[in-house]
Amino acid sequence: MRNPFETPEITTFRSALRRFVEEEIAPHAHAWDEAGDFPWSLHERAGELGLFGLGIDEEYGGLGFENAFMRAVAWEELGRGAPGGVAASLSARNIMTGPIQALACDAIKQEALPEIVSGRKGGALAITEPSGGSDVANMSTVARREGSHWIIDGTKTFITGGLKASYYVVGARTGGHGLKGISLFFVESNAPGFSRESVGPKMGWWSSDTATLHFDHCLVEESRLMGQEGEGFIAIMENFNFERLGLAASMLGMAKCCLEQSIAYAQQRETFGRPLIQHQAIRHKIADMSSKLDAMESYIYQICWLIEAGEKTVADIAKLKLFCSRELEYVANEAMQILGGAAYLRGNPVERIYRETKVMSIGGGSQEIMRDLAVRQMGL
Ligand SMILES: Cc1cc2nc3c(=O)[nH]c(=O)nc-3n(C[C@H](O)[C@H](O)[C@H](O)COP(=O)(O)OP(=O)(O)OC[C@H]3O[C@@H](n4cnc5c(N)ncnc54)[C@H](O)[C@@H]3O)c2cc1C
Repeated sequence: MRNPFETPEITTFRSALRRFVEEEIAPHAHAWDEAGDFPWSLHERAGELGLFGLGIDEEYGGLGFENAFMRAVAWEELGRGAPGGVAASLSARNIMTGPIQALACDAIKQEALPEIVSGRKGGALAITEPSGGSDVANMSTVARREGSHWIIDGTKTFITGGLKASYYVVGARTGGHGLKGISLFFVESNAPGFSRESVGPKMGWWSSDTATLHFDHCLVEESRLMGQEGEGFIAIMENFNFERLGLAASMLGMAKCCLEQSIAYAQQRETFGRPLIQHQAIRHKIADMSSKLDAMESYIYQICWLIEAGEKTVADIAKLKLFCSRELEYVANEAMQILGGAAYLRGNPVERIYRETKVMSIGGGSQEIMRDLAVRQMGL
């Protein structure tokens, strides 16, 4: 479907990313997934392409502007061709640089942002705890002031990029119960009292490092408090909006991959004396999948347009993420059916995407929480 929002600048940006994904990621995708890791040089290549610089000022190595369309295109192209683990590890930076730029002191911005944006060093966002990720306002990691330092105690888990990151944005409770007691901290991996371990094998995102972080009387300087004390919750929620838009766009990329794989397979596979693509049941699946992709794409760009127009889009983004996760489940399931046994083999992109649909309906806010948030924002 022709996309009225696809300007020449966006097309150029998309083409550069697609080339990067097709030439430098896709050929290694399965090997990296099986190895559960990928070379650090890829982070630096992505940094060179500006993947981590969207929305970051030029003085910190960023592109100097923010554009929701370009952000969506970046996540979509990674979702289309990169294994979820590579896409998630790279994108982990994009969900923590915004709060650093908006809230951290100048010294932190000057020290950390160029390192993260260039891809030389990794960054991660640490909100979820073993006791739960949905109820952010109820987090139990605490930070208390002691002289000119903060002492952080608690545990974070499911932190993408957490094993290799040098810098973390961490939510912790500095005040009483509820959302007003939460603040954000900038923590370095060499902070005293900080340690980390892998969460262990996962259903998908194999090539990403996902960590549990331990803060055991972790000592950070006073200046590591980001923004005002007690203002962390709002910052976390605003940041979630960007993450959720990105996740929706990456689901569009994953769904596009499923459709492309399905068409290619249905054209060459023969059953009952003719290509699969000539069987009406398969043709109808392709039509249904294609129309769902069009709906996802139109919806994503409509929300980007609203963001660029400066509208409040919390409920829209929650509904968008919910919608895209449900449509992706449908599309991935139909792709599995079209490819049949071939898609049951490890190494087939459809097999991987089918597994990785699940994290998209949980991470960054689950389907249930997206419904809840959308209805609350509607004033109900
Ligand atoms: C691979 C992976 C990577 C991740 N990366 C990060 C990261 O980088 N940083 C980070 O901070 N977090 C990360 N997360 C955590 C993710 O955001 C949480 O898993 C998610 O927010 C849900 O939290 P939970 O798993 O603790 O589920 P819980 O909050 O314990 O909820 C369990 C289930 O109950 C449902 N539920 C909860 N409350 C309600 C309710 N009121 N009504 C109805 N249903 C409800 C939820 O939808 C969920 O299905 C990651 C998770 C995964 C799996």
